[in-house]
Amino acid sequence: MRTPKEVEMISFVPAKLKDIFEKGRDYPWPKPEACPRCKDSKIWGHGFVDSYFDGFTGGLLLRRYRCPLCGCILKLRPCDYFSRFQASIDTIRFSLSHRLRYGRWPPGLSRSRQGHWLRALRRKVEGYLGRGWKACLIEGFDYFLARGINPVSRSM
Ligand SMILES: [Zn+2]
Repeated sequence: MRTPKEVEMISFVPAKLKDIFEKGRDYPWPKPEACPRCKDSKIWGHGFVDSYFDGFTGGLLLRRYRCPLCGCILKLRPCDYFSRFQASIDTIRFSLSHRLRYGRWPPGLSRSRQGHWLRALRRKVEGYLGRGWKACLIEGFDYFLARGINPVSRSM
């Protein structure tokens, strides 16, 4: 059970998936000096989260920390990937710009997944930036990305 005080935070850090895969629990994840939420306490290791990424058959172990003072849980994730997405940001952007430029998907990726990215991007760009951006979806992708917002997620 999660107590009401518990808050989850995500920190995106540079990390090579191949190294995480090979080193497992021995991968040298960075450890923040203090809790990012209350800034008042050291944080402790709090196990790992199994996460799936394209190109790896099994899950990769991502580091998790917990603050004993405020209860905040900090999850580390590779910064080249959006939360809950298995394809890298570069791959997603490449797929979408290929589709928008040539009218077809690049080979090698699931079409349904790519279609989901495009629909989500269109919805987000038109919904938040306006219909004037309709012909500039990749510019919209970059606009959101530059602001730390996932351009292809359902939510803001
Ligand atoms: Zn804290």
